[in-house]
Amino acid sequence: MAEFLNYSNQHEERHECYSERKDQWVIFRCLQCDYERRMNWETGEMRVRGGDFMVLHSGMHYPTGINPDANMN
Ligand SMILES: [Zn+2]
Repeated sequence: MAEFLNYSNQHEERHECYSERKDQWVIFRCLQCDYERRMNWETGEMRVRGGDFMVLHSGMHYPTGINPDANMN
């Protein structure tokens, strides 16, 4: 049965994430699903787990004080 995904009725689902900082990791967590993305700002290593690939995750703000180039205070 040709059950295609509903491309005609495609609406982008969007989830809001919040970020937190833990040691050298920046962790983005979704409030609406189990999506979690963490990035090591020292090594650039990134890990993602959970979530749905159809869902856009936004709210990827970096916590303050994480950019070594930023001289603002
Ligand atoms: Zn989500």
